[in-house]
Amino acid sequence: MDDGHIHRFEGYRVQHSSVRGPAKGGIRFHPQVSLDEVKALATWMTWKCAVVNIPFGGAKGGITCDPKHMSQGELERMTRRYTSAILPLIGPERDIPAPDVYTNSQTMAWIMDTYSMTKGYPIPGVVTGKPISLGGSLGRNEATGRGVFYTIECACEHLHVPLKGATVAVQGFGNAGSIAAQLLHEAGAKVIAVSDSTGCIYNRNGLNIPELIHMKTLCGHVERFPESEEMAPADLLALDCDILIPAALENTLHAENAAPVRARIIAEAANGPLTPAADRILEKKGAFVIPDILCNAGGVTVSYFEWVQDEQHLFWEAQDIYNRLERVMKTAFRDVLKIHLERNVPMRIAANMLGIGRVAEAVQIRGIYP
Ligand code: NAD
Repeated sequence: MDDGHIHRFEGYRVQHSSVRGPAKGGIRFHPQVSLDEVKALATWMTWKCAVVNIPFGGAKGGITCDPKHMSQGELERMTRRYTSAILPLIGPERDIPAPDVYTNSQTMAWIMDTYSMTKGYPIPGVVTGKPISLGGSLGRNEATGRGVFYTIECACEHLHVPLKGATVAVQGFGNAGSIAAQLLHEAGAKVIAVSDSTGCIYNRNGLNIPELIHMKTLCGHVERFPESEEMAPADLLALDCDILIPAALENTLHAENAAPVRARIIAEAANGPLTPAADRILEKKGAFVIPDILCNAGGVTVSYFEWVQDEQHLFWEAQDIYNRLERVMKTAFRDVLKIHLERNVPMRIAANMLGIGRVAEAVQIRGIYP
């Protein structure tokens, strides 16, 4: 550490499946990272890649740490040490990490550099979510939020909810939440409440999202935004609105706080924001849940595009990436909706049936080795 003492961090990399292709999944730096959490997130990645039908399996990694209280130098040394520990497990054909909560393109650049220096030549395809100058893809940074937006567009069309004028509440104004909010705002929806780990703000007539993103980038929080009132973060979930986007962490909607939820559409930008108890409560209330493995799959989809571009050494234009992403997300939504309607099961079960079904088919066709 910067003060000269040596700190020992616990880190993990879990590969859940590589049946359909190399394992794929983000790396999280957070005080709550545990082996169980990483295992759950790796499993979701397997089903998620199968739902959007990209040729990857599932993995996830994490380090139990508090990045908000670490310097850049400490983060770099910890990232490089973690990379060297997992080096035999990863690679462009084996397992490809990406950013997740509190990791970013700089973290990916350190991983790419540590991996490449050890191998002796540049290997950009070992990670996705890299800076553009190192073989990153245009559109990757906003891919998850953009994918969330496309699935909300589909849900609104299915439920005959006009997106123009629809009211939206966003829990977690980070990468996924803020980009989804921005695109909804551009489409004419009213984002009436937003929270982050420091607080929550509200304006019934709609918040000015581009200015809020500007302020959050400069100051690191959403509190004290002009033309908004402060609200208890827990109250955001119970707001009278059309669309609720949980975009923070797991288990934020549970048995104790799900009953007052009034939104018609719940778009799971985060991974696992609803506990099974919350799921049952919202199902009974008739809420339409866009499940995480469908809703937030835009990130891994553009990660796949990035990996393809790195492997081909040929880079695509932004509009090309948006068009391909829209096609992938809307096809996946239609595939899941079809199962939901034909088999009369909740959207989450339908997504699981599609994802697990595709993995099972691959397992069966591959057969047993040797
Ligand atoms: P991020 O770090 O950019 O944003 C997380 C935001 O949530 C931050 O603004 C933080 O202040 C806020 N937050 C934390 N705890 C909160 C709480 N209790 N209440 C309200 N806000 C809280 O992370 P991200 O990349 O946007 O990821 C958010 C979620 O989306 C995670 O579950 C992640 O696994 C999932 N996800 C992200 C991506 C991606 O590409 N970024 C892809 C798929 C899924």
